[in-house]
Amino acid sequence: AKAAGRNGYRFFEAEMSVEAKTRMALEHALRRALERGEFELHYQPRLDLKTMAIVGMEALIRWNHPQLGRVSPLQFIPIAEERGLIEAIGQWVLEEACTQTRRLMDKFGRSLRLSVNLSARQLRSADLPQQVAACLNKTGLPAHLLELELTESALIEDMEISTAVLKELKTLGISLSVDDFGTGYSALAYLRRFPLDTLKLDRSFVNQENGEIDSLKFIKAFVDLAHALNLSVVAEGVETKETLQCLREASCDEAQGYLFARPLPFNALEEFLSRLPAH
Ligand code: C2E
Ligand code: CA
Ligand code: CA
Ligand code: CA
Repeated sequence: AKAAGRNGYRFFEAEMSVEAKTRMALEHALRRALERGEFELHYQPRLDLKTMAIVGMEALIRWNHPQLGRVSPLQFIPIAEERGLIEAIGQWVLEEACTQTRRLMDKFGRSLRLSVNLSARQLRSADLPQQVAACLNKTGLPAHLLELELTESALIEDMEISTAVLKELKTLGISLSVDDFGTGYSALAYLRRFPLDTLKLDRSFVNQENGEIDSLKFIKAFVDLAHALNLSVVAEGVETKETLQCLREASCDEAQGYLFARPLPFNALEEFLSRLPAH
C-alpha cells in the first residue's frame, strides 16, 4: 500500500508540469496581492504626432511580490482573468489611475488623458458602467479625460453584451479604444458596430520589417481608412526615429514607445512632466 501511495504521488508529480506549478503558486500569491498592497501603476506617456506634445499616458500594472519579485502582467493577468480575480484588480487599477491623474491635473494645471486597460471579463460585468461612473465621481477626474482600452477579442467575444456595455460607457462621456489592433481579426467594418473613438496599432504592426516604403504605404492606407471611419489612430511600441518619421508621414495621430519614454512609476512621471516646457 505504501509503494502504491508513493507511485501515486510520483504519478501526480510527473503529471503536474513545472508550468502548472508556477501557475498555482502565482494564483495563490495573486489572491493576497491586493490586500498586501503589492500592485503599483506605471505610466507610459503618449504624444501628439503633430505637436510632439505629451497629451496623456497609459496606466500599466506592476506586481512586486516579496519572494517572486516582479511578475509581468503578461503572466499574471491571464491567471487573474481565469480565476475571477481580475474584477477586483481592475477596479483597483481604475481608481488608482484616476486618483493619480487627478493629482497631476491639480499639480500641473493641465489636462492629461488617461488610458486604462480593461480585460474581456470586466467588459462582461453588467455593472462596469456604474463602477466607472462612481470612480469618476469619487476621484473628480473629468470623464472626457478617461479612455478605456479593449482588445478586439474582448469586443467580439459576445457582441451583444459588449455593444450594450460600450454604449452605456459612452453616455458617461469617456473614450473607447481598441488595443493591439493588427493582431487579431482587424476587420474595420466589423469594428464599426461598436461606438469606438480610437484604434491602437499593435507594436508588431507598427514595426514592420518589410522595407520602409512598403510599410509606410501600408500604415498610411490603414490610417486613412481609420480616419474615414472617424477613428483616431495611436501607434504603440515606437522605438526608432525611422518609425516615428513613417508614422508622421502617414498622418498617424498619436504615439507612445521607448523612443519617447518607458512606462514610469508615478513619481518619475511627475518628474518627467515637470521638466517639459510649459505650454
Ligand atoms: P499593452 O496594453 O499592449 O501594453 C503595451 C506593452 O508594451 C506594455 O507592456 C509596455 O510596457 C510595452 N511597451 C511600451 N512601449 C514599448 C516599446 O517601445 N517597445 C517594446 N518592446 N515594448 C513597449 P507591459 O507593461 O508589460 O504590459 C503587458 C500587457 O499586460 C499589456 O499590453 C496589457 O495587455 C496587460 N496589462 C497591463 N496593465 C494592465 C491592467 O491594468 N489591466 C489589464 N487588464 N491588463 C493590463
Ligand atoms: Ca494597452
Ligand atoms: Ca497594446
Ligand atoms: Ca498587448
